[in-house]
Amino acid sequence: MSEIDKFVRLFAVPEFVVPHLSLFLSEREMILVARLNGEKCSVSKIVLRMNSNFEDVQDLLDACYNKHLVHREEVDGDYIYYGADFYELLDYICKFDENYHLIDKDLRRTLDKWCYRVYRERMDSYLGSLLEGETVDRAPETFLMIEDLDQVLESVKDIRLVPCNCRKLASHCVKPTETCLSFNDSITDRTFGRSLSKEEAGELVRAAHKKGLMHQVNSDWRTKGPTYICNCCSCCCYPLRLAQEKGTKGVFPIIQFMVQRDDAKCSHCGACAKRCNFRAFYIGEAGTVVKGKNRRKVELDLNKCWGCGICKEACPTKAISMTQIIAIG
Ligand code: SF4
Ligand code: SF4
Ligand code: SF4
Repeated sequence: MSEIDKFVRLFAVPEFVVPHLSLFLSEREMILVARLNGEKCSVSKIVLRMNSNFEDVQDLLDACYNKHLVHREEVDGDYIYYGADFYELLDYICKFDENYHLIDKDLRRTLDKWCYRVYRERMDSYLGSLLEGETVDRAPETFLMIEDLDQVLESVKDIRLVPCNCRKLASHCVKPTETCLSFNDSITDRTFGRSLSKEEAGELVRAAHKKGLMHQVNSDWRTKGPTYICNCCSCCCYPLRLAQEKGTKGVFPIIQFMVQRDDAKCSHCGACAKRCNFRAFYIGEAGTVVKGKNRRKVELDLNKCWGCGICKEACPTKAISMTQIIAIG
């Protein structure tokens, strides 16, 4: 078996990617992963396996660590390294490789399908535990009302903006991609991205709101502190795609609010129907007359509402309000 074949096996590279490996990493990077051989190795062991010198190997390891090709752990003051996998590399590349969008469209579409499949498999036991009401190591997401944004930002110290991997991978819409905020301890030495002030973060989320993106936050942010705000669409967002596919609305994500419409105030303008990602508001068949003009009635199907709140501000007549249906952490 060649070293590249060995890399493909150890790194869990999907078959359709093999002819295109050079788009993602160099031959030397593949050889490094192959020679790690699925083991956790010290730098001196890797120096021997790579037939090179310490500085050269350390540079290679640093670059590969940053790129999520290898992981590292500290043991007795020294690092040991071990191989990651293609799923993790793709997550890094789609966010931070400025040439990712130049990859052939069909290949990117296949990568998204593959990546979503792997994500779904990896989420299986977490979702199973949530559905069974078992304790989980991380609280599921919930939607953040824009009115609570300042309170979230007041309680964080460090803010990092990173690109949205879901939209970079899926490209199902043209919504902005510089939209994911990580906070405090969830920022690691490999989060990268750009540090933001609270003011900049506030502006960014409000701009995302205007563009029709929904805001997701860890549901225990009030008690344990916010760890992220994601600004999401339902067509690209992996968690929301999964929740729609698996029917986990209410558990993943937790739904705290429900929309309400004051029918007397509604002018059937359709702005809410344009905004709603889940077709809870929709243009119905029946007609109505508003200020002497014929219009199709805008209907509301409460069963389809996910309580994201982004329709509220879009309503020119203030007919929409959000009612809290459960209170959490
Ligand atoms: S969860 Fe939302 S903002 Fe975060 S990466 Fe996915 S779509 Fe983007
Ligand atoms: S109707 Fe519900 S799901 Fe649709 S935008 Fe409004 S709050 Fe969100
Ligand atoms: S945006 Fe407001 S006024 Fe327009 S259809 Fe929706 S609820 Fe009615």
